[in-house]
Amino acid sequence: MTRLLLKNADYIITCDDNDNVFENCDILVEDKQIKLIAKNIISDTQVDETINCSGKAIFPGLVNTHHHFFQTFVRNRLSIDYPSMTVIEWLDKIYRVFCRMDEEMLYYSSLVAISDLLKHGCTTAFDHQYCHTRPNGKHMIDQSVKAAEMLGVRYVGGRGTNTLPREEGSTIPPAMLETTEEFILDCERLIAAYHDPEPFAMSQIVVAPCQPVNCYPETFTESVKLARKHHVSMHTHLGEGENPNIVERYGMRTLDWCIEKEFIGEDVWFAHCWELKAEEFETMGQYGSGVSHCPAPAVLGGFPILDMKQILSTNTTISLGVDGSATNDSSNLLDTLRLAYLMQASLSKQRGGTVTPYDLVKMATRGGAKSLGRPEIGYLATDMAADLFALDVNRLEFVGALHDIKNLIPRLAYTGEVDFTMVNGEIVFRNGELTRVDEEELKQQAEKSQQRINLIIDQEV
Ligand SMILES: [Zn+2]
Repeated sequence: MTRLLLKNADYIITCDDNDNVFENCDILVEDKQIKLIAKNIISDTQVDETINCSGKAIFPGLVNTHHHFFQTFVRNRLSIDYPSMTVIEWLDKIYRVFCRMDEEMLYYSSLVAISDLLKHGCTTAFDHQYCHTRPNGKHMIDQSVKAAEMLGVRYVGGRGTNTLPREEGSTIPPAMLETTEEFILDCERLIAAYHDPEPFAMSQIVVAPCQPVNCYPETFTESVKLARKHHVSMHTHLGEGENPNIVERYGMRTLDWCIEKEFIGEDVWFAHCWELKAEEFETMGQYGSGVSHCPAPAVLGGFPILDMKQILSTNTTISLGVDGSATNDSSNLLDTLRLAYLMQASLSKQRGGTVTPYDLVKMATRGGAKSLGRPEIGYLATDMAADLFALDVNRLEFVGALHDIKNLIPRLAYTGEVDFTMVNGEIVFRNGELTRVDEEELKQQAEKSQQRINLIIDQEV
């Protein structure tokens, strides 16, 4: 058994049921779990390491509920500039690149995304992978699993797909299409290979068709059957501009369409939802589903800003996501917290108040855990997973800013690297370095892979 003692943290922001914040306290970690949070812990058995946490604030590990790792190598390019294009123009460009990605590129783009997540306090990462093309085959999620195992993040892989051809109304190029049968078979394979149903699982699989507008209805009905048979969760994009198309095609809005397909419930969470009406969040809450709010693509795309105060008044679970790098350029969930806060604050007077910065922190921790169906993560308490990160708040720039520590991250734009990140009881990032790998060597390999993508982008965009 490994025992770690985090000694004398200035603040422990637990995000527990009572919103406890402990000052000058210790955390004893045994293997993958928190054994005790208390002052002056004297362990009756020897600890393997005592980490001096004086001057630090410790938070529960962040849970990212929407991402597309495969997009990481198309960042910061004005030739694929999301804000200045229509979504259709933008998709047409990026899909031509994604159609030519291979497993090696996906492996390295996953490593880059996970590095960014871990260095900024994220301990559980959901990745929505819908890019299973004829050239790149069916083993893309396998690559992300491998990358996650190497760096030590808690990984949840969403097996996505698109099944509807362009001539029937989708935006999907032929090379990116699959049949529902191919998709379901591969979900079965991935669940058997990588879905650990036990608490503290480091790898899980979610059935996640990309979006209703780009799939046949049976893709969703078959997804529901499969997911409920295996007791795995479901995810898709919802309410991001497709409602007029869905109304025209099926005579109902997308949420109602999902309800009709039984793609709704506590085992389902949806990305974005900026197009949903207040009453639709009421409905979503009645089913106990969740929404992953991704502020970066909403701002960059110029889309409406979710009214979180209204959504919180329903039973809908809100979590946060960075979204894919093609619409964010970053995998920094601390930055997402800040951005979400600014967006909500900007409409506060108009809407008669808004959520607090700490509400957003809880969405990024507890909300994420609930959305993923993971009761063992999301807050800090005895027997919970030892997933956490520490910030060094003992710095000149924080003098006068520690009055309400719970609000610190969104309010002060604390978006730099954290001091250390612990996942499942292991410190995987510390003192500016990922602890499990030779980062410089990995960077050189990733750059070679990026160069191969660059050639594709030059040819296609
Ligand atoms: Zn997305």
